[in-house]
Amino acid sequence: MKTVRVKIRVTGIVQGVGFRPFIYRIAVKNGLNGYVRNRGDAGVEILLEGSEERVKNFLRDLKEKKPPLARIYEVITSPLKGKNEFESFTILKSSEETELSGSVIPPDIAICDECLKELRDPENPRYEYFFITCTNCGPRYTIIEKLPYDRENTTMREFPMCNFCRSEYTDPLNRRFHAQTVACPKCGPKVYLTTKKGELVNSEDPVREAGKLLSEGFIVAIKGYGGFHVATATTMDEPLIKLRRVKHRKQKPFAIMARSLEATKSFAEVSLREAELLTSYMRPIVLLNKSEDYYLSDLIAPGLHNVGVMLPYTGLHYMLFDRVEDPAFVMTSANPPNQPIIKDDDEALRRLSGTVDYFLFHNRKIAHRCDDSVVRLHGIHQVFLRRSRGYAPAPIVLREKAKHCTVGLGGELNNTGCVLLGNKAFISQHIGDVENVETRDFLEKATKHLIRLTNSKVEAVTCDLHPKFTTTRLAQNLADENGWQLIQVQHHHAHIAALMAEHDVKEIIGISCDGYGYGSDGEAWGGEILFCTRGELGFERLAHLQRQPLIGGDLATRYPLRTAAGILHKKVDVEDWLMQHRERFPHGEKEVEVVLHQLEREDNAIMTTSCGRVLDAVAAVLDVCYERTYEGEPAMKLESIAVKGEDILKLKPIIANDVLNTTEMLLEIFENRGKYSKADLAYSAHAYLAKGLATLAIEKALEKNVKIVGFSGGVACNRILTLIMRKIVEDSGLKFLVHEAVPPGDGGLSFGQAVIVGFSNF
Ligand SMILES: [Zn+2]
Ligand SMILES: [Zn+2]
Ligand SMILES: [Zn+2]
Repeated sequence: MKTVRVKIRVTGIVQGVGFRPFIYRIAVKNGLNGYVRNRGDAGVEILLEGSEERVKNFLRDLKEKKPPLARIYEVITSPLKGKNEFESFTILKSSEETELSGSVIPPDIAICDECLKELRDPENPRYEYFFITCTNCGPRYTIIEKLPYDRENTTMREFPMCNFCRSEYTDPLNRRFHAQTVACPKCGPKVYLTTKKGELVNSEDPVREAGKLLSEGFIVAIKGYGGFHVATATTMDEPLIKLRRVKHRKQKPFAIMARSLEATKSFAEVSLREAELLTSYMRPIVLLNKSEDYYLSDLIAPGLHNVGVMLPYTGLHYMLFDRVEDPAFVMTSANPPNQPIIKDDDEALRRLSGTVDYFLFHNRKIAHRCDDSVVRLHGIHQVFLRRSRGYAPAPIVLREKAKHCTVGLGGELNNTGCVLLGNKAFISQHIGDVENVETRDFLEKATKHLIRLTNSKVEAVTCDLHPKFTTTRLAQNLADENGWQLIQVQHHHAHIAALMAEHDVKEIIGISCDGYGYGSDGEAWGGEILFCTRGELGFERLAHLQRQPLIGGDLATRYPLRTAAGILHKKVDVEDWLMQHRERFPHGEKEVEVVLHQLEREDNAIMTTSCGRVLDAVAAVLDVCYERTYEGEPAMKLESIAVKGEDILKLKPIIANDVLNTTEMLLEIFENRGKYSKADLAYSAHAYLAKGLATLAIEKALEKNVKIVGFSGGVACNRILTLIMRKIVEDSGLKFLVHEAVPPGDGGLSFGQAVIVGFSNF
């Protein structure tokens, strides 16, 4: 039997997922000597000595039996010269070597079944320990300060293991062999309850005490893996009224955490696929339709047909429900308006003591903040509203390798950062609205962290075309600082490019619809039909929605009655109608007079082709929503009304010179008020837009001889529009693509920008 010596380097998600213990086991099983160790580039290095046959078996096991959370991108095997020097197989101390790139640490992972069982087992030393974890579960991305993933490089370094934990940590047959987050009540992080002023509340059982307080209607800030949640009861109105008042959130829906899947089914409809998502190790917030007998407070998701639900994902979360009967608790990210989610204790005390009654702290630091992810289903298709905890920073793997390592900084709202390296795009956790220094810093930090983690040698940075976005200035600074190429990308092009990259498509007719994006001509775009080709920095704008005036500029976005008046004014006298609605304007009759005056001078108005603004206008005309207090509110509420409707008006799309008319549609809705139900009119408006956009896209696809039509942009989160478009496009014999791996909204922009630049020949 020929003996060989080989060095194997593995890249992928191979640290923090029980990979070294796995390697140890298969090496020993195959009778091989040598070592395994983590590398500073997030990869793993293995040295094997033994027969050729055994090495072959080892490599087969490596691929076939890898741990469930591990992902292998590359296995590089190189023969070594020299005599055998190992007499056994061992796990060595990590090396700092960083020559390889493209590996990354895993996302945070929800508590596994085995840990959950131990949490409930009175015989187990970790019985009722809130921070129970193992190699298969627990925080990862949010605790790692630098690589390699060793305890001393994480925020667990402050908790030296006790003898018991160490004995498990060093036992190759134990589930916690080399689990960096291993801890127990004796040696691990402690949890404690305080008043809103930070004074310790003496309690034997702070977690369950907090659960009781929540159940009684108190508001409690709870420290989790990636930041603080603000929590309260879901079955009473009073705490929600208070929470909305102090958080200045009039209408924006709160996410809730249900005690179990069964409990979820008592107030929401849960399909099989939705149940799978809810219970997956990513544990996202899933938007579920409220059921017929929805009995939670209407103040959780006012005016919406659905509610965002997640299941517990840490031992602490499970224990909150132990001593109470509540089906769910509100569990919303603790972030002050336009600020990132709070992660540090002192910041929480400073910023939240006016909001909450109590704090449930633990004494483990959070290295990186990470909000919960949000998904919904369109039929069988999963749509990301936010891709964050449980997913980030695991990459989107592309079919082909990019030409340039590129960093995308996204747009402004709901932003993320992205590092494109080879065939992998690493998208950051949710950053939020980058309008001020705090979120800007968060974006910069998160992006630089990703560059470091993946060991990327960046060549270019890309951002939106908007000259005044904070991210545009940040891109400029980074380009200057590092000598990177700076390339700006048009907003709607980035949306479609993201869709193309996700599906490995070379050319497409893209329907790109959202609220606002800076157009190539400087105008406000948002209802665009584009022809895009992979590898091109440019694109062709083939068609769009009718340009409509924004009466009062940004005020029209906030108060959609203004947009509606701007459109209707062309056809009817809106004075009486506006006067009837004067209470809906912050300054009443006076403001209506100003609006009427502005309507006469419409030539000066800012014009937009935005699809979002048209939906807003329909919402205002149908008395569904008069003020946008959060992004997408009027359109979301309109969809919620339309869910029960049908296409009663059956309007035929009016298309002339590659423009879809929207004035006539709004007029029809306006004139049919009272004649038909709101639901039917709301649905008819959706049907008109979907039919019109799909018709235009099909026409252009035939002209250009393109076989694929895609739908992207924030409006693509709308289920009704998506389903109608899909039917029309597929019936015409073309393929219809939507996002599955990245958000259709602006959370996907950084990825779209990066693929445009990374695959181009700039
Ligand atoms: Zn576990
Ligand atoms: Zn311990
Ligand atoms: Zn957008």
